[in-house]
Amino acid sequence: MFKEFIKNNEENIINTISELVKFNSVSNETGNPEMPFGKECKEVLEKTLEIAESMGFRTKNIDGYCGYIEFGEGTEMVGIIGHLDIVPAKMEDGWTSSPFEATVRDGKLFGRGCIDDKGPVVASLYAMKAVADNCKINKRVRLIVGLNEEKDSKCMARYKETEEIPTIGFSPDANFPAIYAEKGILSLSLTNNFGLDNFEIFDIDCQNNALNVVPKYAAITLKYTGSSEMPSFETAQNIEIQNIDCSTVKIISTGIAAHAAHPSLGKNAIYNLVNYLLRYFKNEYLETLIHLGIFEIESPEFLSRKEIAYATEFEDNSVIQDESGILTSNVASLEYENRKLTIKINLRVPVKTKLDDVILQYRKLANIFENIEVKTLSASNALYVQKDSFLVKTLVDIFNKATATKQEAIAIGGGTYARCFPNCIAYGPTMPNDSDMCHQVDEYIDLEKLFLATEIYAEAIYELAK
Ligand SMILES: [Zn+2]
Repeated sequence: MFKEFIKNNEENIINTISELVKFNSVSNETGNPEMPFGKECKEVLEKTLEIAESMGFRTKNIDGYCGYIEFGEGTEMVGIIGHLDIVPAKMEDGWTSSPFEATVRDGKLFGRGCIDDKGPVVASLYAMKAVADNCKINKRVRLIVGLNEEKDSKCMARYKETEEIPTIGFSPDANFPAIYAEKGILSLSLTNNFGLDNFEIFDIDCQNNALNVVPKYAAITLKYTGSSEMPSFETAQNIEIQNIDCSTVKIISTGIAAHAAHPSLGKNAIYNLVNYLLRYFKNEYLETLIHLGIFEIESPEFLSRKEIAYATEFEDNSVIQDESGILTSNVASLEYENRKLTIKINLRVPVKTKLDDVILQYRKLANIFENIEVKTLSASNALYVQKDSFLVKTLVDIFNKATATKQEAIAIGGGTYARCFPNCIAYGPTMPNDSDMCHQVDEYIDLEKLFLATEIYAEAIYELAK
């Protein structure tokens, strides 16, 4: 029904994406009410709304935090949730062409934001236009565009303060066929007194590793305070020793970065460092943490241990797992200040496990370490829409029809923008088995797949809004 419209608008779609790619819209909180996420974010939003208005849509700029583009009438509203902020990109990182000048090569459109998420936003915009021009619907359709997705999604928090929540919707910011379950995401910190015999800890450095990344670097700088000569540290696998002077040594551990939703794809530099230190130091705290399984990447064993467990469903269950997968844990950073060590952990919690139960279990560590302080840094509840619900079935059927495949909705450990709203799931644009180009150097969207996604989005809007 929409093929012809899309065919006729291929150039327009490419040009509109290219217009938006020009903005280096990395989201930075400025504290400036004129441009809460910076000048480029303000401008990319204004540009998007201007283009949408010229296409005949109603628009609203919500104090520079986000905006929406709407058409149709009715009490119910179908929401499409995308974002215009990007992750940083520099030519020096190895881009073949400027990340801010969208370029077509080999049937692909290259540029920062082409697939995450400016391209899908534009695909949704033209999908709306296809529906608006060709069919009759009974609901309003609203494309909501945020400017802080790559950071804290404060744009959507602002949206929810004053704006209408969609009745049903999707977010074109992940994968096809559709994502019906996303694990809960929990970040915790454990802080306790810490020291190493005969050494003063100068510094612990994880290069500001983000909590959602498996750390690839962890270093500790130690100053010897003993009376005899400083013992020597030997290099080991992925451990480099720098003797800074006769009493100062820096121990550097390297690993492999990976997304915290898949810690098994990386190698944790912190875990490697801790194990190395324990070869030279007797340290009850670290030894106990290892013994308890705090550094385990899948379903840390202590979560089900009786000696610190209160009566929970975990008690006799050594693995926390459901249809969305296993609980995973990423020890993401170490910080050292005022003789206290802070360990930050990012957990991906299966949809049927309560985040509060997991938090309580970590708090039970206080039964073992008197002074430990366990803090919740952030908690984002799981997303779960029944696989046989109208929304999931409708979207998956549209995808299967359009691609002549028989895919099923998937569950993931990552968090998508869809979790901002109830009854909303992530839907494309990355095709099953395609490599994920989000946040990569030479980010691109394949043009054939972009136009196919546009058609799928038009069908989805029509089916949800008719
Ligand atoms: Zn995104």
